[in-house]
Amino acid sequence: MTKKTFRGGAHPPERKDQSKNINIEVLRKVSQVVIPINQHFGAPLEALVAVGDKVKRGQKIADADGRMTVPVHASVAGTVKRIEPRLLANNLEGPCIIIEASAEDDTVFMPVMDPFTVSKDEALSRIREAGIIGIGGAGFPAHVKFAPPPNKPIEFVIANAAECEPYLTIDERLMEERPGDFIDGMAIVMHIVGATRGIVGLEDNKSHLYDSIATAIKERSSGKDISIQLLRTKYPQGGEKMLITAATGRVVPSGGLPMDVACVVSNVGTLRAVSEAFRKGKPVIDTGLTIAGGACLSPKNAIVPVGTLAQDLFPDFSQYDEAKLKRIVMGGPMMGPAVPSLNVPLQKNTSGLLLMDEAEAKSFEEGPCIRCGRCMKACPCFLSPALLNAALKASNLDDAEKIGVIDCIECGACSFVCPSHIQLVQRFRVGKQLVRVKKQKEAQRAGK
Ligand code: SF4
Ligand code: SF4
Repeated sequence: MTKKTFRGGAHPPERKDQSKNINIEVLRKVSQVVIPINQHFGAPLEALVAVGDKVKRGQKIADADGRMTVPVHASVAGTVKRIEPRLLANNLEGPCIIIEASAEDDTVFMPVMDPFTVSKDEALSRIREAGIIGIGGAGFPAHVKFAPPPNKPIEFVIANAAECEPYLTIDERLMEERPGDFIDGMAIVMHIVGATRGIVGLEDNKSHLYDSIATAIKERSSGKDISIQLLRTKYPQGGEKMLITAATGRVVPSGGLPMDVACVVSNVGTLRAVSEAFRKGKPVIDTGLTIAGGACLSPKNAIVPVGTLAQDLFPDFSQYDEAKLKRIVMGGPMMGPAVPSLNVPLQKNTSGLLLMDEAEAKSFEEGPCIRCGRCMKACPCFLSPALLNAALKASNLDDAEKIGVIDCIECGACSFVCPSHIQLVQRFRVGKQLVRVKKQKEAQRAGK
C-alpha cells in the first residue's frame, strides 16, 4: 500500500511504548472540578450559574451570544463552590467554575438526534450546544469549522488519525477500542458539510489498526465513501496543512485555510465527540488523555471529567516519582506548554499530561546560528526559520511578517533539529502575537 507524506518535518523519538498497549481507563468519580469558562478559540463566555447553585452533570454552566462562542458544561453533579481565576494550561489565569461533586450522579443530557434527518442548521446547532471544539488543537469552535461559506464547497473530510506528537497514544487507543465512534462522527460531518469523500489519515506506526478501522467503515459509515490513507510516520504529520497535502496532494495557500482547497480536517477525539452529541445527546464533559513520561510510575490512557485538577489524579488513579519529576507538560512534548505545578485543570483539549524526568527535561544553552540550513529543511511550511529568528531578534516585525511568521504552525520541528539549540519556536510564538498586534494597530489607524 502506498504511504504518503509531506515535504520537510522531523523524526523525534516516538516514546509511545510506555502507554500504547494500555487500555483506556475511565475515571468518573472526582471530589471537585475546576472548569475553565473559556476553553475555546473565540469570544469570552459568561457564567450561567452562581456560587451555591446545584448543578447536574451535563448542565450548561457558561455561554454567550456570538458565532465564535462554545458553551461549557458541568462535568460532575454537585454544588458551585467558587467562581474565580485559576492558573490554566496556557500559563495564564482565567475564570473558572469550581464544583464540589455530590454523591449522587444526577445527569442531564440533550435528547438524542438523528443527524441524517435534521436540517443542517439544526445539526450545527447541536454541535455548538454540545460544546465541541477542536480537541487536540487550539480549541477552534467545531460548528464554525463545519459551516464554510457557500463559495467554499467541501469535497473531503479528513480524519486526523496521525497522532504525531511523541508519547501521546489516546487517539490510538480510541481507534483500537472504539473505532466505530470516530467513523460515525466522520460520516455525520461529511453529511453536514456535503463532502463526497472521507479519508482517515493514519500514520504507519499505527498500521495494525487498519483492519479494525476498515471494519468500522463497513459498519458505521452510513453509506459514505470513506477510505484509509497510510501516511509515513513523521512529525508534524498531524498538522492540518501537512495532512491535506499528504492525503489529497492539495496545498493550502499561504495565509489560507483547509476550506480553500475544499477540505475539512478533524481529529479522532473531535469526531468521537460529534458522534456522542447526536447518538447520546452528550456534551463534551470528559477529556481523553495520555499520562506518561520518565517520572510517571503508572502510565495510562484515560478519560476523565473536564476540569479535573492534574494533581487530583495522584496517587489514587496514577502515580509518579516526586524525586524524579523535573518538568510537567500539558499535551505533547513538541507543542504542549510546560506548567509550574500539577494544580492545573485538564481541559476539553488536553491530550496529554507528561511527567518528565531529568533526561527528558534537559535544556541546552542557546548557541549562535551556524547557518547549517537544517531548520529550513525541516520546516513543513517552507519557511526560513533562521531568517525569521534573525528578524525577531532584531525586533524587525516588518521583516518577520514578510518572511511569513504568521504561517508558522508552531510545530517546533525547526527547534528540534537545530544543532545550536536555538529557541526558534518559542521566539516565533511571541513574534506571531507581536505581528498580529501590529497589524491590528495598523488597521485601527487606517480606520478599518
Ligand atoms: S518555523 Fe514554525 S512551522 Fe516551520 S518548523 Fe519552525 S515551528 Fe514549525
Ligand atoms: S538549524 Fe539552527 S544553526 Fe542551523 S541554520 Fe537553523 S537556526 Fe541556524
